[in-house]
Amino acid sequence: MSSLPAAVNPPLRTLMGPGPSDVHPRVWAATAAPTVGHLDPYFLRVMDEMQTMLRQVFRTENPLTFAVSGTGSAGMEACVVNLVEPGDRMLVCQNGVFGGRMADVAGRAGAEVTVLERPFGEVFTADEIKAALDGKPVKAVGIVHAETSTGAMQPLEEISKVVHEAGALLLVDCVTSLAGAPVEIDAWDVDAAYSGTQKCLSCPPGLAPVTFSPRAEEVIANRKSKVASWYLDTTMIRNYWGSERAYHHTAPINANYGLHEALRLVLEEGLEARWARHRANHVALREGLAALGIEYAVAEAHRLPMLNAVRIPAGVDDATVRKRLLTEFGIEIGAGLGPMKGVTWRIGLMGAASTRRNVLLFLAALEACLSEQGVGVTPGTGVAAANAAYA
Ligand SMILES: *Cc1c(COP(=O)(O)O)cnc(C)c1O
Repeated sequence: MSSLPAAVNPPLRTLMGPGPSDVHPRVWAATAAPTVGHLDPYFLRVMDEMQTMLRQVFRTENPLTFAVSGTGSAGMEACVVNLVEPGDRMLVCQNGVFGGRMADVAGRAGAEVTVLERPFGEVFTADEIKAALDGKPVKAVGIVHAETSTGAMQPLEEISKVVHEAGALLLVDCVTSLAGAPVEIDAWDVDAAYSGTQKCLSCPPGLAPVTFSPRAEEVIANRKSKVASWYLDTTMIRNYWGSERAYHHTAPINANYGLHEALRLVLEEGLEARWARHRANHVALREGLAALGIEYAVAEAHRLPMLNAVRIPAGVDDATVRKRLLTEFGIEIGAGLGPMKGVTWRIGLMGAASTRRNVLLFLAALEACLSEQGVGVTPGTGVAAANAAYA
């Protein structure tokens, strides 16, 4: 071959977008370990340990807790298709892109979907969900805990009560919140939840931790029809992750090594310490941005600590700044999604990327970019404000 492509040699980026986030070197190292068979006794032990650690991170005793072989969206699809059957009613709360995706998934699974909408950046109250459940019985209510597209955190405890009073199951998207902010599957009585590896777990993308409550398992066991997706059918996958060890599909062995190490890192740090770290770096970034005159797109009470959605200052060119951050400083941040395109930047501080180093590096780089764009900022103002917040 005359033009053999060069071997991959990716640039080393600082990943401060909506995911993927910076991967911890220990996780990279784990993914490069020798591949064994998916039924090798060594790998079975890794799976058992992962299940135990996933339960700790999800704060649950749910036996049916494992990693779906696929990204966060596969976790979403796994939860939806296992809970709903064709003709079942499902209420999906949509205040961002991912709620919209869940409604699409539920419709494709044959559910009769009702979408409850809120403007991007806002959150739902338990009362409005209670009102929406005041009609014909609903099988499940789907809601996003941390809407990465808007930067808003949805409180869940009260909603869980009204959902269960209405006899429905509660399905929660924890893709961005897990391991970066409190997620309490058992205390909040969540019936099905999914996450992804490339947000606050700081793994490469490719796996989706999921968990199902005993109540959800019972609903699945009493289905009238087969789960619509062969690949995501928990009634079969559970025989691989459970004691039967029946082959279902070949687990992505090395991706699972990576998640195993990422979970070890989370538990080594401690969940509470990890949540506090995310919070402290968010506060410092917020102070730095405020000093530069940059405003958040979400009310203070509902802001995500791991994803800062801020308004692009007037007169500043969105694409030019993001490109310069990437090419000159190696920093990736996210553009606005959906109706927020061109309106917001999404600055992630997820997992291994949630550090003082990244906050200060980003603010210094942003100051340079804003000056170039003719925004009158005194160099060092944002950095100083962030440093003051840490002190
Ligand atoms: C990233 C994300 C997803 C989708 O995950 P993929 O890994 O991109 O498939 C779903 N929900 C939320 C809230 C997310 O942030």
